[in-house]
Amino acid sequence: MGRTENRADVVVVGGGHAGCEAAAAAARFGANVILITHSRQKLGEMSCNPAIGGIGKGHLVREIDALDGLMGEAIDRAGIHFKLLNRSKGPAVRGPRAQADRKLYREAIQCLLDDYEGLKVREGEVTDLLFDGGGDVCGVVTSDGTRVSCAAVVLTTGTFLRGIIHIGDQQTPAGRVGEPPAIGLATTLQRLGLPIGRLKTGTPPRLDRDSIDWSGLIVDEGDNPPTPFSTLTEAITTPQTICHLTATTRRTHDVIRANLSQSAVYGGKISGRGPRYCPSIEDKIVRFPDRERHQIFLEPEGIDDKTIYPNGISTSLPAAVQIKFLRTIPGLEHVRMLRPGYAIEYDFVDPRALERSLQVKAARGLFLAGQINGTTGYEEAAGQGLVAGLNAARYASGTAMVSIDRADGYIGVMIDDLVTRGVTEPYRMFTSRAEFRLTLRADNSDLRLTPKGMEWRCVRSVRSEAFTRYHRTVNLMLERAKQERATPAELLRRGISVRADGVRRSIMDLLGLPQVSLDACRAAFPWLHEIPQRVLEYLCIEAQYAGYLDRQTFEIEGFRREENVRLDASIDYRKIGGLSDELCGKLAEIMPETLGMAARIEGMTPAALASLLLFARRT
Ligand code: FAD
Repeated sequence: MGRTENRADVVVVGGGHAGCEAAAAAARFGANVILITHSRQKLGEMSCNPAIGGIGKGHLVREIDALDGLMGEAIDRAGIHFKLLNRSKGPAVRGPRAQADRKLYREAIQCLLDDYEGLKVREGEVTDLLFDGGGDVCGVVTSDGTRVSCAAVVLTTGTFLRGIIHIGDQQTPAGRVGEPPAIGLATTLQRLGLPIGRLKTGTPPRLDRDSIDWSGLIVDEGDNPPTPFSTLTEAITTPQTICHLTATTRRTHDVIRANLSQSAVYGGKISGRGPRYCPSIEDKIVRFPDRERHQIFLEPEGIDDKTIYPNGISTSLPAAVQIKFLRTIPGLEHVRMLRPGYAIEYDFVDPRALERSLQVKAARGLFLAGQINGTTGYEEAAGQGLVAGLNAARYASGTAMVSIDRADGYIGVMIDDLVTRGVTEPYRMFTSRAEFRLTLRADNSDLRLTPKGMEWRCVRSVRSEAFTRYHRTVNLMLERAKQERATPAELLRRGISVRADGVRRSIMDLLGLPQVSLDACRAAFPWLHEIPQRVLEYLCIEAQYAGYLDRQTFEIEGFRREENVRLDASIDYRKIGGLSDELCGKLAEIMPETLGMAARIEGMTPAALASLLLFARRT
């Protein structure tokens, strides 16, 4: 690296999903950013499943897009099978998902990053951090001894910190298959005294498409037409593909059961905890002994790629056992395994060591995002990356940092969960984690977050202009649909039958009535035909949820009242009467930024909360 290039406002370490979003968000804010990662070609690499979105995760992608992040646009370019999950359920819990062509996804991320002028990518491994005399971070050191100075560092090292891959009883130090682990940095974090734990995750074997008998398998088609993730994408133009479904059999389960002791997890070789909601096939067979089959989605890893990802059977059994159990699965009788599945164990930092800005409490200027904070999943990583990168840039420029709260978005729910409750297993997003689900929908992510992003200076003009136009249309149409009213008699003349009570009903009232179809409304009020599809969908959802939304707005006001009571980091909790020693210890460690955050700490009681409120009011 040349001399002048060794200085930046923000250095981002790691080019995974968190790192790319962090670097881009910092650059959108106007910071000079250097992103240091092992390999430029791996920017945007999907370590495990070739898919973005899903239930809960799809919300995160839409929110990242609303804040002008990369993920939504990248998957729109690389997606080869789009599907809205939970379509039959309410709009609040529907989850957009798309399978990606791995290569196209990497290319899309790299191409999007190329557009950022203030962002430079460097290949290398960061082995240490530099601190100034006041203990604030001021740079990084790479393995060749180069020092890069900066005002803020974002660490997004994923599964690389002291990573160890397990296949049966074989153990290989690695961050991902074929890539070295990060040891130096793990030692630095330990030296800093950060609370470090161990987690694990796993991936299934990869299969050769040409060795699979597709003839008897169920076909899973994507949505036609596919719905883009990003509000900036007009239509999906990448060719689409199909997936297939198969399932394990009793014989599969017998083979796995007979070899359980050889599994890295069940043989006692791994101490880290794995994701309960994304279990290995060994876990499924042990935890659900009565189940006769477990579904497997056979997902192509790309249009021109013969690799098939068998979703649902991650494993750490020896390679020979993997091939044996695979061949008991319908369609896979003669399958060739391109690469065995494996489990990976890695260090993570207890996220209770972080503020909501994702800055480390004990090290100013140091931010952490992604799997290093105990989460799992690309979307979770990307959402944190965006927040950490933006805050790193704001910190570097001396601007106040920002946070997203639980009523603003799923990103806020995730970060609040992490910093107030910590993790006991890899954290992934579910819609059930959000208490304000009716408000936090995937369809209204931009209405919730783009105005904030514009205020926070992380949204480029192309998006803010498009959003302003959309917002204006939504407001105009909503107002018109609220204002335009008709009596039951007038409605009957227009083909809509409602109770003859003389009440003049608005179009919004009618859209909310289960017995009145959208087609009937459009026939009665032809101007509805001219509304853009997305705006119309928004009106319908708002109409359906109208009564509930009013109640939720009321609940959010209550939540915000607690969130608005700030708690100073320097509070000596022992001096507040009515708090147990245990609670004082927890409060001192977590340092909740608001009364609301304190309320969510495990073990908090109503009486203790009342004492805190009293204290906060007095001071
Ligand atoms: P990563 O995507 O891991 O990126 C880390 C980046 O940091 C890499 O580019 C690496 O090269 C770079 N890096 C690390 N250390 C250094 C350093 N010292 N200097 C420079 N660069 C560095 N998620 C799921 O949701 N479901 C799953 O089933 C699932 N299974 C997984 C299985 C495996 C085997 C693995 C490895 C991951 C799995 N994941 C799964 C997790 C998912 O891949 C991650 O959650 C996601 O990629 C995390 O993003 P990240 O940006 O935090 O880190």
